[in-house]
Amino acid sequence: MKLDLSGKVALVTGGTRGIGHSICRALVGAGAHVALCARDGSKAEQVAGALGHGARGYACDVGLAAQVEALVDGVEKDFGRIDILVNNAGFTRDNLVFRIKETDWDSVLDTNLKGAFLMTKYAARGMIKRRWGRVVNISSVVGINGNKGQSNYAASKAGLVGFTKAVAKDLASRNVLVNAVAPGYIDTELTSGISAEAKQYLLDNIPLGRLGEATDIASAVLFLASDLASYITGQVLVVDGGMVM
Ligand code: NDP
Repeated sequence: MKLDLSGKVALVTGGTRGIGHSICRALVGAGAHVALCARDGSKAEQVAGALGHGARGYACDVGLAAQVEALVDGVEKDFGRIDILVNNAGFTRDNLVFRIKETDWDSVLDTNLKGAFLMTKYAARGMIKRRWGRVVNISSVVGINGNKGQSNYAASKAGLVGFTKAVAKDLASRNVLVNAVAPGYIDTELTSGISAEAKQYLLDNIPLGRLGEATDIASAVLFLASDLASYITGQVLVVDGGMVM
């Protein structure tokens, strides 16, 4: 069996940089047609153009139902369908719990958790009709272990784990498989604010002895999106160099 996604259509949220961009590149490399979105629509179009292979970029805030519905309609119109959905868009607003503003709680939960719900709700309809689909949610080891100063982010990422398992059960009979990938520390814009001291602490606690790269996560997503994973659903694949075990 080969890892071949020729002819499949994938939609990746937050595909303009970091992990999402690497996932888009991996999907294109495996032959998939890729649609990607971000709030910055012109950046999405520019990144999609550079990906080639007919990739297209769209503006969408995944936390807003009307925008998500319009995005899914647009992608289905442009590409004919959506076979693979990667719920990757996410961000942080870190603080100790007693300092987190209500708006920072809501915005993190809206993008990281509600965004995955909205995207799945609309994109799954076509998958259900065609009796084939893959949803991969990007969670985090922080959703499993917690992390100081990240209660909003940890709650959103833990929520994604429960969401993944429940939706896997909702859609299994329609051959729509739903899994999550939980990255450890990956060097991207999201983590660029981490101090050198904190990075060293992380390194000292990663058995494989290096920080993660976006391609490490993209490989796991590619596997879960492919026929190689056709008997796997409702699982969380931790990709963290052994940091959490
Ligand atoms: P980046 O900040 O590098 O990229 C985030 C992407 O998401 C951008 O394309 C951004 O574009 C988009 N995005 C953010 N908010 C929204 C929104 N509301 N609607 C649509 N798109 C949005 O992050 P990473 O690549 O590091 O992270 C990707 C995912 O991996 C996130 O879910 C993150 O939580 C998770 N993760 C990352 C880890 C790491 O160490 N880096 C570890 C564990 C998990 P724009 O701003 O234009 O909207």
